[in-house]
Amino acid sequence: MAGGMLAAALAEQSLDIVLLDGAPEPQMPTGAPAARVSALTETSERLLRSVGVWKNMPAHRLQPYDKMEVRDGDGTGEVHFSAADAAASHLGTLVENDSVVAAIFDFCRAACRIDWRSDCRVASVGRREQGWRVELADGQVIDCRLLVGADGARSMVRSAAGLSAPSRDTGHVAVVATLHSAVPHDSCARQAFLDSGPLALLPLYGDGHQCSLVWSLWPDRAAQLMEQSPGSFSHAVTQASQAWLGDLQLVSEPLAFPIHDLHAGDYVCPELALIGDAAHVVHPLAGQGINLGLLDAAVLAEEIGRAIESGRDWSSLALLQRYQRRRRGHNASVVAAMRGFKVLFEQRSPAFRFFRNTGMSLVNRHSMLKGLLAAQALGRFDDAPQSARS
Ligand SMILES: Cc1cc2nc3c(=O)[nH]c(=O)nc-3n(C[C@H](O)[C@H](O)[C@H](O)COP(=O)(O)OP(=O)(O)OC[C@H]3O[C@@H](n4cnc5c(N)ncnc54)[C@H](O)[C@@H]3O)c2cc1C
Repeated sequence: MAGGMLAAALAEQSLDIVLLDGAPEPQMPTGAPAARVSALTETSERLLRSVGVWKNMPAHRLQPYDKMEVRDGDGTGEVHFSAADAAASHLGTLVENDSVVAAIFDFCRAACRIDWRSDCRVASVGRREQGWRVELADGQVIDCRLLVGADGARSMVRSAAGLSAPSRDTGHVAVVATLHSAVPHDSCARQAFLDSGPLALLPLYGDGHQCSLVWSLWPDRAAQLMEQSPGSFSHAVTQASQAWLGDLQLVSEPLAFPIHDLHAGDYVCPELALIGDAAHVVHPLAGQGINLGLLDAAVLAEEIGRAIESGRDWSSLALLQRYQRRRRGHNASVVAAMRGFKVLFEQRSPAFRFFRNTGMSLVNRHSMLKGLLAAQALGRFDDAPQSARS
């Protein structure tokens, strides 16, 4: 998603772009909802709209949400806020990841200077006197002036460039599945911070009763859950969520993802930049990962576009460092906030829990604080690219 977004955002520039992806050619999903979904913020939607990608998204498979509810596991702390708290129409949209990639692909396929190669594995990358050399698994070689690593958490580009990114096991495995709920989701994204780990029920498109579960658990508990029959799995989630949406029924194969977070110390070196999960991986508990990656892509495209317009070198280290300055601080604050949240909700001391839950209830009664939470959920921040503001 991050790499495709960068290519799309640069489509109007006089650049020849080659996008190399080991995955098969993207296809718009059909049938039941795909298991991998993302909560895109209003800011991400604006970015995709401004580039011209959003119009390719399948409208009938999108689920806007206008409310969020957060609870703690004791049932004594609760925060509700809505798009209205920040004078917005909705807080974000639940999308299938495959829809986003397919919509970006359709856009890029129509752009004459983007060469998108699917099923194309990069075997190695190495520095040249100017730029980088990319060797493909089939032996082909591509030389480029600027190499952007958008190759995910285990980025080979990052390793080849010697950019270190300390990784931390969060101790969680995220179990993801599609559920049918007895009570309609009412376009609300729900998150409960349970002793077992954060459990999110995210509204999906359809008849108003389809939800995506993201339950981050300790590995042994996640393994137990994955081994259960569909009936026991459904029962376990209904119980853990305290029947927030009534009885829940599992309607997909559950998937499990071990969660490591990481943050690169530097995103750039001469003629090379990292974007998306190649630069930072955050705990999925606040659904921020790809929202940050799309912002990286938009800011890097904005810097390159400005350089081209003013006749400056569009691959200079100074430009890449400006990109890093604009993005690294924001991403670092989200990585730190996710680590902090996890610690905050893991505390077992009754006194600590009392103050935390009282704090949540106080926030819930304060309209200005709720407005701030809603602005965060919308993905608004000060140094957003121009394309996210219009
Ligand atoms: C359970 C879970 C729930 C999540 N929920 C949300 C959410 O609600 N909202 C949100 O914003 N984020 C969410 N995230 C995070 C989000 O999924 C990631 O941040 C996002 O997928 C990263 O996108 P990316 O484009 O940077 O990298 P990736 O999606 O990892 O893409 C990397 C690409 O690089 C290609 N590649 C890698 N190596 C090579 C190679 N050697 N040669 C060729 N190609 C290569 C791969 O084929 C792939 O296409 C969630 C994550 C998890 C685990």
